[in-house]
Amino acid sequence: MTDKNCIFCRIAAGEIPSAKVYEDDKMLVFKDIEPKAKVHLLAIAKAHFPSLPEEGDENALTVAYMLTKIPAIARANGCESGYRLVVNQGVDAGQTVFHLHFHILGGETLPW
Ligand code: 5GP
Ligand code: ZN
Repeated sequence: MTDKNCIFCRIAAGEIPSAKVYEDDKMLVFKDIEPKAKVHLLAIAKAHFPSLPEEGDENALTVAYMLTKIPAIARANGCESGYRLVVNQGVDAGQTVFHLHFHILGGETLPW
């Protein structure tokens, strides 16, 4: 469920501080430590799973839940006129933290 060596599990557990903007029993949203846009949030599940779940994986329910919460959270945090939702899935995409997370990027007009 959690991995003690995982930095995002440790953030979710409160062992590593983060600038939280939203939290409930299933997910946490906090500011990225190295923002790539005026608004750069990370949405993580509290459960540890490394990347997008495949068909039949119950973690897919958590992902669906997160996707229905993200629009209002983004809107409330400076992304009223839009945002980009990014998943770096795997090493070729540059994934560095292997605990699924959505990057929420906005607060300005983003270059493509
Ligand atoms: P990835 O490259 O895996 O898609 O994204 C990992 C993200 O996590 C990066 O944007 C990085 O800046 C962010 N990050 C890594 N460590 C920490 C941390 O300790 N705190 C916060 N707030 N963000 C972090
Ligand atoms: Zn984790």
